[in-house]
Amino acid sequence: MLHFAVAGVPLSTPAPGGTVEGLLRAKKLGLTAMEIEWVQNVPKSTERMAEIRETAEKLKIALTVHAPYFVNLNAADPATLAASKKRVIDALSMAELAGARSVCVHAAFNLGLTAAKVYDNVRRATEAILKTKKVFPHVNLAYETMGKPTQFGTLEELLRLSKEFDLYPCIDPAHMHARTNGAWNSAKEWNEMFDLYEQYLGKKSLKTVHMHYSGIAYTDKGERKHLPLKESDAKWKDFLKVLKNRKIEGVVVCESPLMEDDTLLLQKTYAKL
Ligand SMILES: [Zn+2]
Repeated sequence: MLHFAVAGVPLSTPAPGGTVEGLLRAKKLGLTAMEIEWVQNVPKSTERMAEIRETAEKLKIALTVHAPYFVNLNAADPATLAASKKRVIDALSMAELAGARSVCVHAAFNLGLTAAKVYDNVRRATEAILKTKKVFPHVNLAYETMGKPTQFGTLEELLRLSKEFDLYPCIDPAHMHARTNGAWNSAKEWNEMFDLYEQYLGKKSLKTVHMHYSGIAYTDKGERKHLPLKESDAKWKDFLKVLKNRKIEGVVVCESPLMEDDTLLLQKTYAKL
């Protein structure tokens, strides 16, 4: 099955909000997945995680997590690097308790180093993070394809790194579109993207994807901000057709500022294809 996930607690969730209320609201809206946004920090309450897990299981809502933005696995300063690794491990271990399947992580900033050097640094940090795998046995570490050339994370880099560690990345075609100042916006290109994914990670891997999608504003320096689907140049209907034709399964998180409205637009349009 392909789930369309709202990126965080739906905007129409009644006060006081929160993840559990958000899950109930998502269910009422007819959604089957939600990404939990721990982008500022990772919560510490294990009771709260159990509550999220029970609610999501009861409502049959698939969960993914977005890890904190304050991560740089290419940091030169040992304290910054250690804090970055800890944030990723905390997100993975709390995701395990919450019953989420995959955690999306912005791996690194390039800081002027060569692509090979950054890859090597991220690779070593990943090895260290995965040494603690016993605290998140069922959760995937998904590095995200990033929207700016100053950030680590092209499609090929992430597929290569993921293959090395038996992981799968979080592919964000909107970021790829922005990073290349307008490419990756056609059925032909998305088919190439999935061909490459399959080539690295195997045919079965396309049954458990963790993807992001939205409209996006960009310049020659890459991503500026996410946009509603209908206010962007995203050929989102063509994108849905590729997902359908290739029988892609897993979770596509809709990162539009319109949140549940655009998530439902994707879900309903996909269902009609
Ligand atoms: Zn992200």
